[in-house]
Amino acid sequence: MKKDFFSIAIDGPAGAGKSTIAKKVAKELGIEYVDTGAMYRALTLKVLRNDIDPANKLEIIEILKNTDIDFNNNHIYLDGSLVDDEIRENRINQNVSYIASIKEVREIMVSIQQKLARKKSVIMDGRDISSVVLPNADYKFFITASVEERGTRRYRELVEKGEKDITLNVIMDEIRKRDEIDSTREVAPLKRTSDSYLLDTTDKSIDECVDFIVSIVRGRN
Ligand code: C5P
Repeated sequence: MKKDFFSIAIDGPAGAGKSTIAKKVAKELGIEYVDTGAMYRALTLKVLRNDIDPANKLEIIEILKNTDIDFNNNHIYLDGSLVDDEIRENRINQNVSYIASIKEVREIMVSIQQKLARKKSVIMDGRDISSVVLPNADYKFFITASVEERGTRRYRELVEKGEKDITLNVIMDEIRKRDEIDSTREVAPLKRTSDSYLLDTTDKSIDECVDFIVSIVRGRN
């Protein structure tokens, strides 16, 4: 039986270039991009706005039940309001991994993500896409880069946004911390599955990375 839709799963650590690359691949192939990190970020924003302690699992699970997270034209909406910029602030980077490690939060997010992939062809990025969300994805990629490169990219991004009182060393430490929490948590830790292509973006341009993925997808389609 011919499948109606196909899916591309992208996983990897913070700052590896996943979302930039995935967005371009989506455009080139005419499919939908789903940024699952943005969903965990949006919930983190709501938690912080409501002065909830990021360690308070019960309150976070409760608030998620009354939270609407939606994508429209590559923009993310939290309870109906556009939050594209706010979810990229450094206070979100610093707290998101704690909230993303809560099992019940992940169960709800994963079911929303799986529903999205049933409706259309998608390229979805995150930490557990190849392993948990779309284990039967047609194409799987693990995108990574050195900590120095990833830290430098995040640092530049934050400086451009006007974020003050940050240093490259502190950002690299935060990235290491996030890597550690994401890869050692009990539920759905970040890891490369054996059936995924490895893409190290350290010394590659964005276009080279996009071409790598598109040529594999086109080659096999
Ligand atoms: O990809 P991004 O850096 O925006 O993700 C933010 C955080 O959300 C990650 O550091 C991770 O803790 C969490 N996340 C996750 N599972 C995903 C996507 C993101 O745990 N599928």
